[in-house]
This record gives sequence, structure tokens and C-alpha cells, in this order.
Amino acid sequence: MSTPRIVIVGGVAGGASAATRARRMNEQAEIVIFEKGAEVSFANCGLPYYIGGQIRQRGRLLLATPEYFRQTFGIQVFTRHEVTRIDRAGHAVEVVDLETGRSRQERYDKLILAPGAAPVLPPWTGADSLNVFVLRDVPDSDRIKAWIDQRGPRRAVIVGAGYIGLEMAEVLRGRGLEVSLVEQASRVMPLFDEVMSREIRRVLEASGVAVHCGVGVEGLSCRDGLVEGVRLADGTLLEADMVVVAAGVRPMTRLAAEAGLAIGAGGAIAVDAHGRTSDPDIYAVGDAAEVVHAVLGRPMRVPLAGPANRNGRLAGQHAATGSSRPATPVLGTSIVGFFGHAAGMTGLSLEAARAAGRDASCSFAIRGHHVGYYPGAENMVLMLVYERGTRKVLGAQAVGGAGVDKRIDVIATAMHLGGTIDDLAGLDLAYAPQFGAAKDPVHIAAFGAQNQEDGLIEQLLPGDPRIAGQLVDVRTPAEHAAGTLPGAVNIPLACVRERLGELDRSRPVCVFCGVGQRSYNAARILSQHGFRTVYNLAGGYTLHRPG
Ligand SMILES: Cc1cc2nc3c(=O)[nH]c(=O)nc-3n(C[C@H](O)[C@H](O)[C@H](O)COP(=O)(O)OP(=O)(O)OC[C@H]3O[C@@H](n4cnc5c(N)ncnc54)[C@H](O)[C@@H]3O)c2cc1C
Repeated sequence: MSTPRIVIVGGVAGGASAATRARRMNEQAEIVIFEKGAEVSFANCGLPYYIGGQIRQRGRLLLATPEYFRQTFGIQVFTRHEVTRIDRAGHAVEVVDLETGRSRQERYDKLILAPGAAPVLPPWTGADSLNVFVLRDVPDSDRIKAWIDQRGPRRAVIVGAGYIGLEMAEVLRGRGLEVSLVEQASRVMPLFDEVMSREIRRVLEASGVAVHCGVGVEGLSCRDGLVEGVRLADGTLLEADMVVVAAGVRPMTRLAAEAGLAIGAGGAIAVDAHGRTSDPDIYAVGDAAEVVHAVLGRPMRVPLAGPANRNGRLAGQHAATGSSRPATPVLGTSIVGFFGHAAGMTGLSLEAARAAGRDASCSFAIRGHHVGYYPGAENMVLMLVYERGTRKVLGAQAVGGAGVDKRIDVIATAMHLGGTIDDLAGLDLAYAPQFGAAKDPVHIAAFGAQNQEDGLIEQLLPGDPRIAGQLVDVRTPAEHAAGTLPGAVNIPLACVRERLGELDRSRPVCVFCGVGQRSYNAARILSQHGFRTVYNLAGGYTLHRPG
């Protein structure tokens, strides 16, 4: 076995995985990690919960210490050491000891770049104030926690309604702050489809978060060196005792770009299936590098912990031995918890699928995470995205309480194996009353997709201009009285056959119920009684209700 000197830049998700796998594959290799922060291998994903107090001890965030790497793996770790330049011709990097300011050259045979991504902080005047925060590493979380503990802020503005924005909204509400959430895109969690994003927004607003979408931040209002307000482009001034900017991340590509390594179209370092950059002795993994999207089939940025850890492991092996399995394309499977709810997704949204030129459609299941007769069922909205014709599953999103993770992971697994809606409909899933249902939400969504593809039903999504004319609410009179869609007549499902005469067969009929299931039955009745154009409102009143 050869004895390469493997130098790794960045010692957290991708870098630590690469280092330990390299050691397990090659006992003789010399492995060195340079990490510019004070910690290695810390739990980025746990940072919000340290601020929130769910994780009480700071030390719990530190998954491994330099000492542990040395003793257990024989890996040298230099913290507070920043790699500032790559000399490709000389196979060396320039490293600055941030404590002493001294720089030195370090030779490598193989170099693995795992520098991650940096939070985007727009150049607002006042963005460097003590009460403006980003959240990327442990010192960031220390600063936010200390500000809350010591200054007792009352009002927070969070800029960016993505994963970290939502987590911080929950954490800051939990710490007693009034929270405003500002999102420049037209909706919260913009990777989700509009209809699902609305469900997320409902939870946020019901939890006391003031949501401002479709409006950017114009600037910060400062006094005495501190921010006291956030000015929005529409003229709104949000008072703030602290501001958290969670407006996305930018891949750390400077080192690679200055060394002449290829950067992909999405702005991250271009790599092959083994993590090799355009220089075969230099690898790149994690948030700084591209991955191949499993549905789109092209390289892109997917800044998530899973790909960073898995691809770090593969690159570490390749650097240590010269071979490894190729990286598996990723689906971008992700989940966020907020206010006792979860929002998860895998693959493409309907909007993204159509933007990519796919003839995509979708179906919904709105159900409990287990059967309703067993106490404790928590509702979820599951949206399944598939390709018409091929019936291939393209993606899924779910918002709800318990069980969101399970459905997203089941569908991600099916997608990984190239599954269709028919595969999902036939999945043999575990069931007992406290765990699920004999017809799981995954099955229900797949059945709905099959019914559409087989021509049994046609559904309309919220906002579809065809939602007009004969709008029929097939719920009970009590449900109808509690709130319905404008212009809807109430013909409960049990009465549809006897009241067919009240409807005009020559005009389209739109039926709806609470979630789309009773109305599916009503639509089948109507279709089989000569109504030529019958639409079911997807997700029923739940998804179509105003607000
Ligand atoms: C608050 C938060 C919550 C998150 N939650 C989730 C989640 O729930 N699920 C999920 O999938 N993902 C989550 N992520 C994303 C996930 O943490 C990242 O995708 C993952 O850590 C990327 O791994 P990486 O190795 O590329 O980068 P990082 O883990 O960020 O590590 C990069 C390291 O490189 C160091 N470095 C950079 N440049 C240099 C240099 N020149 N010299 C030396 N060292 C350098 C940095 O200091 C940093 O420590 C979260 C991220 C954050 C910030």
C-alpha cells in the first residue's frame, strides 16, 4: 500500500468523513486536516437547538476533538489554521496559523477541499452591527445565545424563510421573542410548491410568526452602532432588537478558483463521480462542490449534510487507495422541524419539474400519520409529483406532524430505485394502528396519481381558472356551514345520486370535500351518470380554502 500524504481543507462534515475513511482504507497514509475554525467535526445541524436550549451542553455539539482524531485515527488536526493558497505545480498548500499569523507550505500528494459554504450577508450598512447574526458555526451560535441571554431582546427579524430561517423562527419564539420572517421570494420555503408552502405559512402564522413574503430588505436602521429596525422594499419598517440573516449560502470556491480548478455552472467546484476536480490530485466535497441531481441528471449545488458526508467518505477512500465506488446522484431529500411540525421534500417540486421540461402532474394525500381511530393521529399533507406517460415518481413534499420523515424517506427510496407511481401503490409497508394505515398516505397519493393517469378523474389545483361554474361541496351540511368556497352548493356525498337533477350535465362540474376523497367518489358517480366534464379539487377545502 502506498503512503500518500493526504491534506484536507476543512474538518467538519465532508472533511472529517474523508479523513476517517481514508484512514480506514490506508493505515500507512499520512492524513492532515487544516481547519480555520476553533472546532472540528461539530454538529452544524444542531446549532439552532443549542440556542433554543433543547441541547443544553455546548460540548454535545462537538462530535470529535483534534485529540480524538489523533488518538483514534492517527490523523493530525490543526485548528485555527487557514489554507490560503494551492500551489498545484509544487503539490503544496500555503497554510496560515491564525494564532501566530505565520504561514508555511505543506506538501500534499492528494488534496481534499471541504471548505463548505459561507452564509450570504448582503452589504447593508449596519450589517456588521453586534446584533446582526448569521448562523454557520459554533461561535455564531455562541454569539446569538449570549445576545439573547444577556440583552433580553424582545423583537427579532429573520431574513430568509428557508430551512435555517424556519428553525430559528421556532427557536426565537421559544425564547419568548416576537418574530418577523422576511422572504424575498413570493413564498416561504421557495423550493416547495406554492400549495405546500401555504401550509407551512399557516403553521408559522398560527405560531405567532409575522410573515412577509415577496418583499426584499432595503436596508437596516441603526442607532448607536446597533440595528433597531429592518426596512423592507415596500416601505415597511420592522422594529428589531436582533436580526438573523438566513438568506442562503455561497460555496467557498475561492481557493479552487484561484488555483485554476474548474467551477461548474451552478457556482460550485466541478467534480467527477469520485470527487476529483479538474486536477486529478485534488478532490472537492460537501457544500463547496457540485453533485449530480438524480432526476435532472446534471451537476448542481445541493448544500446538505448527507451528500457532504457520503461523498466525503468516497473521496477519502479514493485519495487513500486510488479507487472507490462512484458517488450516487442525489435527490436533495431534506426535512425541517418547526413548531411541532415538519416539512420534508425529495426530488423535484411540480414547478421545478415543469420548468425542467417534464410533463409532470401531482396527487395528494391528506391523512393522519396513522389510522384515525387510534388516538394521537397527526395530520399531514403529502404531495406526490410524477411524470405523465412514464409514470415515474419525480418528487414528493410533505407538511404535517409526525410521520412526514417516514413518507419522504419511503418515496426517496422508491425514487432511488427508479420507481413509478405503480411501484408506490404496491409497496408492502409495515402497518399496525399506532404506526400507519393499511392504506398509507404514500399509497393514497399513488392511487390518486394512478386514477388520474388511468383517466378516472381529473383534478384541479388551487388557482386553476377552470374552478368556476357548478361548484359542489359534497361534505356534510355542518361542514359546509362552517366554511366553504364562494358560490358552492352543498350536496352531501350520500345525496349525490338522488340530487343529480339539480346539476346541469352540459356544463363542467367541480366537486370538492375536505381533502379530496369524498369528492373523488362523487366525481365517479357523476362521470358514470353522463356528466362529461367533472373536476375534483385536489386536496379539497384544505388546500383551496382562502387565506
Ligand atoms: C444551522 C445549520 C443547520 C443545518 N441543518 C441541516 C440539516 O438539518 N440537515 C442537513 O442535511 N443539512 C443541514 N445543514 C447543512 C450542513 O451542515 C452542510 O451541508 C454540511 O455541513 C456541509 O459540509 P461541508 O463539509 O461541506 O462544510 P462544513 O461542515 O461547513 O465544514 C467546512 C469547514 O471548512 C472550514 N474551512 C473553510 N475554508 C477553510 C480554509 N481555507 N482553511 C481551513 N478551513 C477552512 C470551515 O471553517 C468549516 O468549519 C445545516 C447547516 C447549518 C449552518
